[in-house]
Amino acid sequence: MAKTRSGSLGLRTLEDITSLILQSHDLSQTLQNIVDLVSRRMETEVCSIYLMDLDQEKLRLSATVGLASEAVGKVALGLDEGLVGLAAKERKVISIEEPQNHPHFRYFAETGEEQYHSFLGIPLFDRKRPIGVIAIQTLDRRIFSVAEISALQTIAFQISSIVTNARLLDSIRQRDALAQVTLDLVRDEAATAAESFDSHPVLRGKVAYPGVASGPAHLLDERLGFTDILDEEEVDVVRELGELHEAIEKTRIQTLYLEKRVAERLTSDDAAIFHTHLMILEDRSFIDKLECEIEVGHSAPYALKKVVGGYLEAFSRMEDPYLRERAADMEDIGRRLLANLTGRGDQTLHLVRPGILVAKEILPSEMAALDHEQILGIVTESGEKNSHAVIMAKSLGIPALVGVRGALKLLEPEEAVILDANSGTFYIRPSETIREEYRRLEEDCNRELSKLDELREVPAVTSDGVRIHLRANVGLVSDVEVALRNGAEGVGLYRTEFPYMARGEFPDRDDQYQLYSKVVEGFRGEPVTIRTLDIGGDKVLPYFAPPKEDNPFMGWRSVRVSLDNVDIFRTQIEAILMAGRHGPVKLLFPMISSMEEVSACQGIVEEAKQNLRDEGIPFAENIPLGVMIEVPAAVHIARQLAHKVDFFALGTNDLVQYLLAADRNNPLVNKYYDPLHPAVLTVLHDLARIGAETGTDICLCGEMGSDPLNLLVLVGIGIREFSMPAPFIPRTKMFLKDLDSRLARDTARSVLAMSETIAIRSYLIEQLKFLENV
Ligand code: PEP
Ligand code: MG
Repeated sequence: MAKTRSGSLGLRTLEDITSLILQSHDLSQTLQNIVDLVSRRMETEVCSIYLMDLDQEKLRLSATVGLASEAVGKVALGLDEGLVGLAAKERKVISIEEPQNHPHFRYFAETGEEQYHSFLGIPLFDRKRPIGVIAIQTLDRRIFSVAEISALQTIAFQISSIVTNARLLDSIRQRDALAQVTLDLVRDEAATAAESFDSHPVLRGKVAYPGVASGPAHLLDERLGFTDILDEEEVDVVRELGELHEAIEKTRIQTLYLEKRVAERLTSDDAAIFHTHLMILEDRSFIDKLECEIEVGHSAPYALKKVVGGYLEAFSRMEDPYLRERAADMEDIGRRLLANLTGRGDQTLHLVRPGILVAKEILPSEMAALDHEQILGIVTESGEKNSHAVIMAKSLGIPALVGVRGALKLLEPEEAVILDANSGTFYIRPSETIREEYRRLEEDCNRELSKLDELREVPAVTSDGVRIHLRANVGLVSDVEVALRNGAEGVGLYRTEFPYMARGEFPDRDDQYQLYSKVVEGFRGEPVTIRTLDIGGDKVLPYFAPPKEDNPFMGWRSVRVSLDNVDIFRTQIEAILMAGRHGPVKLLFPMISSMEEVSACQGIVEEAKQNLRDEGIPFAENIPLGVMIEVPAAVHIARQLAHKVDFFALGTNDLVQYLLAADRNNPLVNKYYDPLHPAVLTVLHDLARIGAETGTDICLCGEMGSDPLNLLVLVGIGIREFSMPAPFIPRTKMFLKDLDSRLARDTARSVLAMSETIAIRSYLIEQLKFLENV
């Protein structure tokens, strides 16, 4: 008898349902895809969805696998008719054998269902109102297990919201069918197809982090520039002066706020830059110059352009490098003032109230500087799921959709939007019905999340008692709180470059020490693996511009930059060693490709220790040293590396891209970037074996570790430590609790003998179904 898993199969199936929805364009197609999927996952001959007619009188067969397809739309049951009617009327699960013997059985010649010997029906609810039933039937006599029923209930819960959502969409679509305006949105990819409905456009995108959020849209449009500002004739001097003073005041308040926030999230030294900005904003000669320009007949924006331009000119001619750098501050102030003058102040990185951030693309540096507390959701027109900005959103648990084409063109600042990052849908100016619906969905989502909350304090253990360690990937100090909230056992990867991106200049040793200590102390005795700077590729520091390179990911990146800038590197290592006094710290070197690099890094660690000794500064003497295995060369010398260092961190985000020659940020080669490629799995298996044989600790910290399908193999090949965006930890614990490590091992063995990614993926999907049988 086939069984199914409850929790994780539900989550996995939900993910698949989500992607099915992305490919579907109407309600009946969506429902049909769902029943196909459920019948395959639960191995039943029949799966059908009946939906209540709008008058609430009849339940109509709306999609089926197994019953005659001609019956769809025709067969309708009253609430007093049949087992399906009974499930809806009684609002409860009906699970029986030999359904034809049940007094409520109702025979429909059209469906040919008399041949089925078991029935399981689960009502679908919209709030408390039944909206339909999902029913499965099997040819053999089958008693549905508690686990199967609970799995279908989980799926039914998800389907209910999707059905409601899809029905709403469908009704809007029908209503607007005649008046539909075809906007010139690109429709070349099914997953990013856009459907527009006059004043309530609905767009689609790829889910980067799931969840539902609603609020005003904060547009992060193309940066506002001075080049667009032209002089105007006949300006109203009094009005322009008034507007100037209003903009200065607004910018001053924003700057005060930024200063406070950065001091909280980084260090007070980082915040000092905003203090300089405040001084400029309050500088009498700066304001006098602006006023003079207006008084001689220029508009306020043009006056600003002239004055700021003059300062920039003057700064750029200065000898003193410090003063030359102040030009950047002047420019920053100028842009923020200009944004406020032109009424687009809220498009800056300062967000005044909670909302959904909509951008063409978000750079990691912008993501670092953004006001995370105010971001309820993120929508980008471009961008891939593994880009660093998206990784940051994930670690903060912010629902995010990427690849939502045309969003900016359709939106005005602050317009209402709803982001459904479960189904991949983005609603612009949603109607009241949709808003009402989503208020409820948001509540449902929060309820589901609070269920996962219960797992926070529970250790991650497989069903046969194998302990797995789940640590967090963090970047900014704000990630620490999210990681603790999600029950992370310390940090498996602290990306130190993220806080560097939020600043105007390189932090000195003390700044770094403060920052690292904050993170280490936050984890109260749990280990924190601090990775040295990993800049380059898509991570650029505004004040450390890399040379123009044709292939930045294959170029001057990561430890290569550090080894070429020994002072910066040694300073960072000193700060890490000093922070090691506040808790168990491990030091990690990224992008290692040779033994010589490791020796060089170790040499610098020794120099750093000596410096600290000479200065009489206390530090942790015995910090474990580790390397990231993310370049194929490191895989081939892994055994030698293992003898040289204390631990490995498997950076699969890069390892996959380098092994498969598929850029992790390039949508054109997205289909080649697959962590389940046999080459990737073989490499990971070899590494796990080398780790075990040499007694080297291994932690996998790439994004692939948070997907249950991948985890099945990874646990199977013996990996026992993972580091992931913290919001994924509770659901991973839920998955592991039902996973028997012996099944995982056998699964991995079979998968390693396969040579095609498609076959591997289908096999793993099948295996997930049978998890409980073992
Ligand atoms: C990786 O490459 O897998 C990794 C964890 O590092 P990053 O994503 O920061 O390159
Ligand atoms: Mg990497």
